[in-house]
Amino acid sequence: MRLPRLFILDLRQVILGFTLLLVLITLANQFVISDRVYTQQAMTQSLEANRAYAGKLADITSQFIQSLQMQLSYSAKSLSGDLDNAARREQEAQRLLSQTQSFNSVVIVDRRGEVISAAPEQLGAVGIILHASATKQSLMVPQAMMPQPYVSPLGNLVVSPSHPIMSDTEPQRYLGYISGNIYLHGNNILSRLLGTHFHGAEARIMVLSENGAVVYDSQSRQIGMTVGEMHPLWDAFMQAQAGQSGAMVSTQGSAQLIGYAPVKDMRWVVLVSSAQQHVVNSVGNTIGNLMEKGAPVTLITLLAIWLLAGTISAPLQILAQRVRDNDKTFNDIPAWYAEAKTLKRAIAAYSHEQLQRISALNLASNTDPLTGIGNRRYLQTCLDSMREQGQTFAVLALDIDHFKCINDRFGHDVGDQVIKTLARLLKLGCREYDYVCRSGGEEFMLLLPGLDIDRAQELADRLRQQVAEHSFKPVTQVTVSVGVSLWQGGVELKAALKAADNALYKAKNNGRNRTEVAEL
Ligand code: GH3
Ligand code: MG
Ligand code: MG
Repeated sequence: MRLPRLFILDLRQVILGFTLLLVLITLANQFVISDRVYTQQAMTQSLEANRAYAGKLADITSQFIQSLQMQLSYSAKSLSGDLDNAARREQEAQRLLSQTQSFNSVVIVDRRGEVISAAPEQLGAVGIILHASATKQSLMVPQAMMPQPYVSPLGNLVVSPSHPIMSDTEPQRYLGYISGNIYLHGNNILSRLLGTHFHGAEARIMVLSENGAVVYDSQSRQIGMTVGEMHPLWDAFMQAQAGQSGAMVSTQGSAQLIGYAPVKDMRWVVLVSSAQQHVVNSVGNTIGNLMEKGAPVTLITLLAIWLLAGTISAPLQILAQRVRDNDKTFNDIPAWYAEAKTLKRAIAAYSHEQLQRISALNLASNTDPLTGIGNRRYLQTCLDSMREQGQTFAVLALDIDHFKCINDRFGHDVGDQVIKTLARLLKLGCREYDYVCRSGGEEFMLLLPGLDIDRAQELADRLRQQVAEHSFKPVTQVTVSVGVSLWQGGVELKAALKAADNALYKAKNNGRNRTEVAEL
């Protein structure tokens, strides 16, 4: 199949193209594998971090609630002999509120459920009979409690740990309870405590009470809402409620990596979740960074390959150019590797052989096969070159006399022998740089550069005489007739040859075995 010229790539482009393709495949492969490995690794790390963090926050929450109970227990004890003393009650409620900074408000409730003291005073809770289930629970079971969050009569979503107040007489009587309210919305001790430990903007922390009510949410959005079966956190919540701590991937809604832990001694749960998409994005960024950092090296590598491709293709390119330009010099080509060397040698050898063949063919086409001297084509070449150089010359036209008779008497082979011998005699009788050609049959044409007409006539006559005196076996005597002319430029070459021919004709007519000079 022949490709259009436009699509024929050179070796350098081919090497670079293939390299580029391989680099791209390698990079893509690296990208896919890195993405998988890093994502898996980052997810495992994130799950583990969330699990550990949930455990730590569960411990903190547990310690915090214990400290609340101790504060309430202390206050309850200090009021056990003085519950009827309104000033004393208010003082204790105020102290608990302001000294501990743990609660948003403090109430003291008698055993019928009526608020008998409250801090801060402006709360306006004194005299209210509490009906909430948390209150009932506290009244029914005289023990330290951490009831479910509920909406207080004043409209706040609260969680209210409480401690019973017992009389200091024996047997002890239940007098009522003291309770600290933590307002779940807004600034409260829980958010201050858990918020300060916040371990990353992407992670969300939630504390759920026993019934799944959200007590704390680092994003504040779901405080007071209850996590139900369809909620993405449900499974983790159930696990933690069963006393387990661990981590899981929730695929409900947008995938979340959730760490969970139960709060000790109560059925509260801490959940730390982060979006899987965030992990995927951060892995994407990491890989992007890696690629960016690796880009200069990749570019340098490609540049190096471009230069190397140039060095590899250079000898072949130069070779191709020289062959195209028919330039026969190959020695200077920098063939630095085995194949280029072999190719260079092969082309040089082939070129040399071609040259020899051509010069042999040239020689053959210019040489008369019988005598070994120049033929008519050679004669033409000599004439052309002398004309080009503006070289004057004398012309001798020479013909064997009565050659037909020689052929007839002695046969064609002897005739051939006579022609060969005559050619040798003519060659010997001329100067080295004279041109002796067999112009056809038994006729010869001699070009004698630089000779004037007299010297040419002398030479012609000497040659004629040498032939006549030579003994041709078995013919004995052979004679030739010679016509002499001169070319001194100015006229057509043909005219000089024709003049020599005419002089030869004249010599034949004037009795043969003689030399005649053309009229100039
Ligand atoms: P003259 O030139 O003196 O007028 O007489 P001639 O007999 O030589 O006449 P012509 O030159 O016309 O004859 C040439 C003869 O040479 C004719 C041909 O048979 C013979 N001849 C031509 N070429 C060759 C050749 O290569 N070998 C031989 N043996 N004979 C040749
Ligand atoms: Mg003849
Ligand atoms: Mg003749």
